[in-house]
Amino acid sequence: MAQQKGMSLFEFQQRFSSEEACKEHLFSMRWAEGFKCPRCGCQEYYHISSRRHYQCRDYNYQASLTAGTIFHKTRTALRKWFWAIFPWLPMINEVSPPFLCSIVLMSVILQHG
Ligand SMILES: [Zn+2]
Repeated sequence: MAQQKGMSLFEFQQRFSSEEACKEHLFSMRWAEGFKCPRCGCQEYYHISSRRHYQCRDYNYQASLTAGTIFHKTRTALRKWFWAIFPWLPMINEVSPPFLCSIVLMSVILQHG
């Protein structure tokens, strides 16, 4: 979430005002150069919009947008997670990859929540 650095809370909430916006952001962090199937490497996919999954065309492998993150398997709206993370961003942007940071942070929040 490095590009959110310097955003005000208002701007942040505008930017991530919908579930779709959050998903798009996660997508762009996970597959910065476009979707690539983790199993076969193909780049053609279908979006399974009812779930947070992308299915590759060649092998029907379902890649999860949120696998390996604390967002995985949560039924809570991504938007709520994003907003919960926001106050912590200035502290974590410097030290490690942004996506990883959000995961670590959310673990902390959950533990102390
Ligand atoms: Zn595949």
